[in-house]
Amino acid sequence: MQTIIEYFNSAPDSHRILLLTLSFFILWNLENIINLRNEPNRLKHLRLNATFMITAAPVQFLLGILMNFTLRWTKAHQFGIFHRYTIKNPLLLFIATFFFLDFCEYAYHVLMHKVKTLWRFHLVHHADTELDVSTTLREHPGETTIRLLFTTLWVFIGGVSLWTLIFRQFIQIVSNVIAHANFRIPEKSDRLISLLLVTPNFHHVHHHYLQPYTDKNYGDVLSVWDRIFGTYAHLPKEKVIFGVDTHFQTCKINTFGKLLRLPMVYIKSTRSGSLVDANQEKDLIDV
Ligand SMILES: [Zn+2]
Ligand SMILES: [Zn+2]
Repeated sequence: MQTIIEYFNSAPDSHRILLLTLSFFILWNLENIINLRNEPNRLKHLRLNATFMITAAPVQFLLGILMNFTLRWTKAHQFGIFHRYTIKNPLLLFIATFFFLDFCEYAYHVLMHKVKTLWRFHLVHHADTELDVSTTLREHPGETTIRLLFTTLWVFIGGVSLWTLIFRQFIQIVSNVIAHANFRIPEKSDRLISLLLVTPNFHHVHHHYLQPYTDKNYGDVLSVWDRIFGTYAHLPKEKVIFGVDTHFQTCKINTFGKLLRLPMVYIKSTRSGSLVDANQEKDLIDV
């Protein structure tokens, strides 16, 4: 355990990038094998979603500095829940911190759906109608900023240590890539695994175009929060259609620039007092 702690205390960013690339590569090929997908648009779709990595990088770098400062400050001042209620056993400490951060991610995801301004940013992720592993990367830089600020807040409140945070991030990367993969686990196995963990079957329901399913299955790595707070839903795989019913035009956007401008266009429109309906949406997006 000590070796694990030492590794995660000094794991360089390049290891996280390598893990993301590796899990992405494996799952991408698995999608091809299982679904026999060779659609001509697939690479175009990957290119569009992967472009979001370029806008995410500077945000991650800048907020990484703030995170670093927070981690050092809470350690130096012994601040936060896990400093106050010391758990001596490192494995128990990791499990407790993991559950704490995962619950925070669940709460954050609910907020992204329920607060209108935040939803405008999160909509970019949901407007993908061809869900696959590349959808994991499709996050508006505005949402990356909001998400990382929230993570910093959870780290501050929890007094989370560097090694537990990085260890969790390693698990989170693989889990998020799997959750978006365009294949399903056999129904019986899925029912068992998704009692605890988020599976592709579980997360795909969250990407279904109709309510109430869009507002269900918010879980990040663990599915237990949805079961506890009554936001769990099941939908047979044949019935899942990706997209958002209230934003049909948005779902047709296939250029990076327009997706980037999308939340600002919506916010401007909401401020001017006009309600956005399906007809107006087309004009907004053509701006
Ligand atoms: Zn969502
Ligand atoms: Zn998703």
